[in-house]
Amino acid sequence: MLYAEVAVEAGRAIDRETYTYAVPEGTEVVPGHRVWVPFGRRGSAGYVVALHAEDPGIEVKAIERADADPLLLPHQMELARAVADHYWAPLIECLRAMVPPRIRGGRSSGAGPSARQTRHSKLLAFAKPRGPAEPPPPLTADQARARETICAARSVLLRGVTGSGKTEVYMAAAADALRQGLRVLVLVPEIALSPQLVERFSLRLGVPLAVLHSGLTDLERAQQWWRARRGEVDLVIGSRSAVFAPIPRLGLVCVDEEGSSAFKQDRTPRYEAGWVARRLAAATGARLVLGSATPTVATYSEARSGALALAELPARVRGQAAEVELVDMREELRRGHRMPLSRRLLEAVDVALRNEEQSILFLNRRGGATFVLCRECGRSVQCLGCSVSMVEHPELEGLSCHYCGYWRPLPTSCPYCGSLHIRNLGLGTQRLEGMVRKLWPEARVLRLDRDAARGPDGYFDILETFASHRADILVGTQLVARGLDLEAVTTVGVVDADLPLFFPDYRSAEVVFALVTQVAGRAGRSGRPARAIVQTSNPDHYSLRHAQTGDYEAFYLDELPSRQAFHFPPYAELAVLTYGHADADRAATTAREATERLAAALVRERVDGVQLQGPSPAFIHRLRGEYRWQLTLRGERLERVRTLVPRGRGWSHDVDPVA
Ligand code: ADP
Ligand code: ZN
Ligand code: ZN
Repeated sequence: MLYAEVAVEAGRAIDRETYTYAVPEGTEVVPGHRVWVPFGRRGSAGYVVALHAEDPGIEVKAIERADADPLLLPHQMELARAVADHYWAPLIECLRAMVPPRIRGGRSSGAGPSARQTRHSKLLAFAKPRGPAEPPPPLTADQARARETICAARSVLLRGVTGSGKTEVYMAAAADALRQGLRVLVLVPEIALSPQLVERFSLRLGVPLAVLHSGLTDLERAQQWWRARRGEVDLVIGSRSAVFAPIPRLGLVCVDEEGSSAFKQDRTPRYEAGWVARRLAAATGARLVLGSATPTVATYSEARSGALALAELPARVRGQAAEVELVDMREELRRGHRMPLSRRLLEAVDVALRNEEQSILFLNRRGGATFVLCRECGRSVQCLGCSVSMVEHPELEGLSCHYCGYWRPLPTSCPYCGSLHIRNLGLGTQRLEGMVRKLWPEARVLRLDRDAARGPDGYFDILETFASHRADILVGTQLVARGLDLEAVTTVGVVDADLPLFFPDYRSAEVVFALVTQVAGRAGRSGRPARAIVQTSNPDHYSLRHAQTGDYEAFYLDELPSRQAFHFPPYAELAVLTYGHADADRAATTAREATERLAAALVRERVDGVQLQGPSPAFIHRLRGEYRWQLTLRGERLERVRTLVPRGRGWSHDVDPVA
């Protein structure tokens, strides 16, 4: 008799990941098969995880029915296990993440496309085959070297400034893989912003391709997924969830703009697509290329240690990078100029408008967290133990460190220089848009942020309007920093570089460096002189100084010591547990008790080298009527803690958090 270990949709407990069922005579299943099994009072769908002939010793029920073919590929089963372990997620959640909702529901057997499709996402139009492959341009010497590095090494970090021809390198490596009869996966942070990229791959490689991202309708997603699963496409391009696409004979995985926060999933399993891509490449033997102008400090340290080979594209193929100017907002204040837009930025936008050039004004307001910044000396109130900005929590009548929980009252003057000009977080994109319309009533103004871009093609429509020069000024959040490749943009303003700089996250300096570098890369594509004007009260901060000169290496070397001193990645893994409850006292008490229990469990199970801190108020302490507290775990091999951490109602956990 054959038995199957089945991860059951209806059973999501972490301490019981699979259930044993008998495989009836005549039913053929392998790991990856979707099956229907009796479970509780009703049946449930599930996935076969393993098969064995060992008698379980108890009476087990039999599988009721199974799909004709396995839904998931063998390497995906391995991947689901790895994701479940690393991100502390139930195995079934990871398997579910690999199957689009419509297929999960059993409504789509892959029998054929539905004729009753009413709307098509515009992006899919770019994926239509256009005939034979276009010949590639001759690669530059640097690009050719990068391609050789990819051939020689299995895993490569491709570091190249914006416009240095990274995409050409991905396409050359993809052509190499296709020639060997292998398939290719390309991951991009926000594919809705990258229709040109889909088109470029389609034209250059001339092979059928699938596009996968959350903006597609359920039906479109199911169709694209099946095309990949049946091996009908040679190339899959998508956003983070595409890392779970079923691609047989995978030979190359490219991750563009590795480290982008868009690669982090915000629901269980809270995976980071770059991490999963590494595991995917290892499980399939595919080559891995991680590309970025500004790799994360953690990824670059992998390259320095030799875990990743390093290929570099130091120069732009065409045009020149925008000149980065830092505007000291403390000086503006001293001159009596209190507006959020400096005189220099106003002038630059004026000039651009006069020349019929386009401008982008960028304002990065992340979340609702607030911190306190001194307008005169430019410093924020920081936790001395963790070296991050403290967060203002009106409910707690003070400032608190969100890692260790250290609390202090709200200062009335700057603790460093004594100035009374201390302020908390400034304006949002909507107010900025209003201000811009008043300043330049004759200009055509567009706004791009999550509120403005509604609907599946929302981003696309706004960007298309801007790209076709039907607007002069684009105001937006970090969404604007990526993907745009616009000829007529000559002026880019970072309205408040201090916001991300003092965001209470260990990665804040890295985020600012990446942001300024990328934003500057948006301008100067046409060969016309371009400028990026970065407003800050901290022009001397190393991340801004090095971003100004574009010196990644120098930034990395300046950033590393504090990572080491304060035990942050790459020197330690980090995980955050959050507990929320509508009652403030209950929330605090439960979090405190759970911390004590977890601390005791770590001792009991002899988990050494893991540090537990908290409870401390979460970034956003009050969210949707709940008071939220968090515990922080730091150390090595945090997967050892997976079964010890508190779970259940009110709890959520995030391994390798990305703020
Ligand atoms: P990145 O992905 O690094 O931003 P791209 O691959 O998009 O850079 O290249 C930037 C521009 O340079 C594109 O317009 C691209 O077509 C062009 N380009 C890249 N490589 C070459 C090459 N070897 N010969 C000619 N043009 C190139
Ligand atoms: Zn001060
Ligand atoms: Zn602290």
